[in-house]
Amino acid sequence: MRRILLSFDGLGIQDVPELLHRLPKTRRFVETAKLIPLDTGVLRSSQAIWAELLTGEPWHRNGCYGYAHPCKSLNELEISNEKDLYSRVQLLKNEAKQSRSVLINVPLLKPNSSSRVWLSDGSFPTNILVSPSELLRDASFQEYKPHAYSHVAGVLGIRNIMAYRCVESEQLRLSCTLNLLSRTDWQRAIWRVSLFDELSHLIGLRFLGAEDLRITETLQHFLNALDDGLSQLFEQSQIEIFIISSYSHEKCLQRLNLNKLLAHGRFLTIDYDVQEFRDGTQRVAAMSAIREGTTGPALMRSSEGRLRTAATQAASPVYGCVLINSRVWFEDGLVDAAEHAATSQHVYVYLKKILDNRFGAAAKIEVNPQPLSERTGRPCPELIISIDGVDLIDVEDPGLLDTFPPRTMHSPSGFLAVPAKYTNSPDLLKPTQLVEILNEF
Ligand SMILES: [Zn+2]
Repeated sequence: MRRILLSFDGLGIQDVPELLHRLPKTRRFVETAKLIPLDTGVLRSSQAIWAELLTGEPWHRNGCYGYAHPCKSLNELEISNEKDLYSRVQLLKNEAKQSRSVLINVPLLKPNSSSRVWLSDGSFPTNILVSPSELLRDASFQEYKPHAYSHVAGVLGIRNIMAYRCVESEQLRLSCTLNLLSRTDWQRAIWRVSLFDELSHLIGLRFLGAEDLRITETLQHFLNALDDGLSQLFEQSQIEIFIISSYSHEKCLQRLNLNKLLAHGRFLTIDYDVQEFRDGTQRVAAMSAIREGTTGPALMRSSEGRLRTAATQAASPVYGCVLINSRVWFEDGLVDAAEHAATSQHVYVYLKKILDNRFGAAAKIEVNPQPLSERTGRPCPELIISIDGVDLIDVEDPGLLDTFPPRTMHSPSGFLAVPAKYTNSPDLLKPTQLVEILNEF
């Protein structure tokens, strides 16, 4: 049996009726599926959530907790990918030896021309967007461009243009994907549609239900093509489709800068002498690959490099994550191994008190349950924080300043639609359980 994991990331279980309304041919296949709510816990970034989906291991064991991670210093981030995972990708385990997996727009996963047919999700600083390179003989694959960095659109104030571009990119990805799936040499496919995530940021919530948006007609044109393609796949008896959305969106009420909070508690010192923000060179490279060099570094600046690491015990370099500035991990680290646990505890007590006071039950702090002695030698967060309706600011943002909140932010609830014949599937799903479910069935 060939199996497709189709991702509609960004939509919630409450969006499913609207989605099916707009996919009338696909509707009859999906209506009978069992919808299982998915809860990502404290994780909000697609990379961290996908790392759990792909490996079946929680963040503190698989080593991925966001889009990027610090390597030699809390002041320097590198984009995370599959190579940085401590755990193996298990979701494609049943790969038949001679067949390649089809991997479309999946976070973290890298190309491998012998075992994968791969279209980039746009997060790597590379010019390789499709693999294997034979695909480039076909003109549509030459034009393939993933669409990343939706948050830049908000900064630029060109939401409408971006929305149309996102639909265009998804339309091209759809035709490339259907082309690949119509070939016979695959057993497992992961196909991620990122348009719903993009539009949730650009337009806001419930855009599928709105009839009077400027984008409505263009969007429906894409959805019709998706409906045609999907219904044809569903009709094939040897193909089984699981639909997932690994997170949804909620209204963003405000932003909170964890680094400012840590600075206020004297755990962190911001270096105001660094006037120029460091250009996120990896990010600029990744973006330039997509936009063919039209993106200046100015759009991709971040606060990376603005920590005075000699006077910083803990920082949040990555969304929601708090790491200790350990001498064991970082060349410019400050905290000795012997002080690590005590420092972590101080930071936890400090943040917990403030967040409980300000946000009550909306604030959640997950403490890394793995004792330091049992961890690998690489940096890992001590705490991951999430607050419902509050977007957290880390050093990815240009400036450690509070800015206008975006319209929406990621919410921890997604869903999995399981074909009806699998009756003993769970009633609530954690990302780490997907491997088990997909490999068991
Ligand atoms: Zn999103």
